[in-house]
Amino acid sequence: MTCAGDTALLSVRDLRTSYRLQGAPRRTLEAVHGASFDIHAGGIVGLVGESGSGKTSLAHALLGLQRQCSGQALFDGEDLLRMKASSLRAVRRDVQAIFQDPLASLSPRRSILQSLLEPLDHFRIGPCEQRPNRAREALEAVELDPNLATRYPHEISGGQRQRVALARAMVTKPRLIIADEPVSSLDIPMQARMIGLFRRLRDRTGVAILFISHDLSVVRRLADSVLVMYLGHILETGPARQVFEQPAHPYTQSLLKAVPAADPAHASPEILAGETPSPLTPPPGCVFHTRCKEALPDCRRIEPAIQEAGAPEHCTSCHLWNP
Ligand code: SF4
Repeated sequence: MTCAGDTALLSVRDLRTSYRLQGAPRRTLEAVHGASFDIHAGGIVGLVGESGSGKTSLAHALLGLQRQCSGQALFDGEDLLRMKASSLRAVRRDVQAIFQDPLASLSPRRSILQSLLEPLDHFRIGPCEQRPNRAREALEAVELDPNLATRYPHEISGGQRQRVALARAMVTKPRLIIADEPVSSLDIPMQARMIGLFRRLRDRTGVAILFISHDLSVVRRLADSVLVMYLGHILETGPARQVFEQPAHPYTQSLLKAVPAADPAHASPEILAGETPSPLTPPPGCVFHTRCKEALPDCRRIEPAIQEAGAPEHCTSCHLWNP
């Protein structure tokens, strides 16, 4: 059973990615284990989990940056996992990316205008003479002064650089943005501004967003639906309000208890005990059983199937929800 629906802009089924370990030709590390989910046009899907949970590997598989994959990731009916490199380059007009470090997409040697022109030139979008105007409009769309176009990345603040990276991703008018920890390096006020900006861009343009973050409080403020990932497995999915207000999986419950309360007079955060097991030797059965306070004997040997968790489209992978 999968909780993912039938029609979507991006439809991912049983996606697995693995890495061959250097010096050990027969050993592989499975970074993503059978991920299935949908992203609909104009939807914001939050992907949360601790560091090392496989979030970035999943993003890299969808972006064609990690090719050792199986399963399916249909974007407009085309499987991103099986596209030739030339087709993947072409689809990047519609599927753009933004990363934690804006310098991953902005060259320090290029002015902001030059960085914004590059995708327009590459995809030959609009007449040449109109492209500089389009680049300045992209800066305005991310609420920056278009006069910044003549500056270089080192001449603007970190928050401005991240908005320029977002402008560069938006300048081709993509249908999907994969945003990997895009606000993690920003201070709290700047995070709040970026979250508002992502939402306004989605409302104005209808772009869908896969928003990846280790920070649940960030995802809570932005996402329509949520995927919770642990050790390469998606353990819970559902509408954001449902997942945050009635989390079904013990891991999600632990993550939420670890978020500091806005009011310090309230209960102090409870840190999830224990270390995440090595992905090289994942536990048998439920991958969370070594840290789960509610583990049952079966949890150590039987992997739970994903199933509905008391509400439509809210699903979890936990034996506690077995009928
Ligand atoms: Fe805990 Fe068992 Fe549920 Fe895993 S399947 S989360 S170990 S109760």
